[in-house]
Amino acid sequence: MAIQRTFSIIKPDATKRNLTGAVNAKIEAAGLRIIAQKRIRMTRANAETFYAVHKDRPFFGELVEFMISEPVVVQVLEGEGAIAKYREVMGATDPAEAAEGTIRKEFALSKGENSVHGSDAPETAAEEIAYFFAGMEITG
Ligand code: GDP
Repeated sequence: MAIQRTFSIIKPDATKRNLTGAVNAKIEAAGLRIIAQKRIRMTRANAETFYAVHKDRPFFGELVEFMISEPVVVQVLEGEGAIAKYREVMGATDPAEAAEGTIRKEFALSKGENSVHGSDAPETAAEEIAYFFAGMEITG
């Protein structure tokens, strides 16, 4: 499996509860390297653009309000098969369905307030990384 990069967000429910380090420990324990990271407050436009694919879903408004409610930590992760590996470390969207030991099983509050985002494919990873980071901010 080739070395890949994926985009991660530590979401407001986790930053608010001071879990940035705990989430990062899970990421690093899985063999993924955090090669870029910054704490930002998303604007409404950022959140609406980022989740545009969900704009017709009933939870879209709630999702946008949640993502702008507190700071988030945006990250680039690198490693072998990083996209699938991070999805595995994150666990299922709904913490009630997430496997033991995953970030969402241990930390998520609900299907909406689920602590982390991770890209789902190489194309989205590249787009999401480019949206939040300049090339010089990423160093592997
Ligand atoms: P992910 O790839 O596992 O993050 O899941 P999706 O792409 O399906 O959904 C994106 C995000 O929308 C999820 O991580 C949740 O934060 C949120 N979301 C998904 N389903 C629901 C829902 O039923 N209710 C609420 N409030 N938020 C949801």
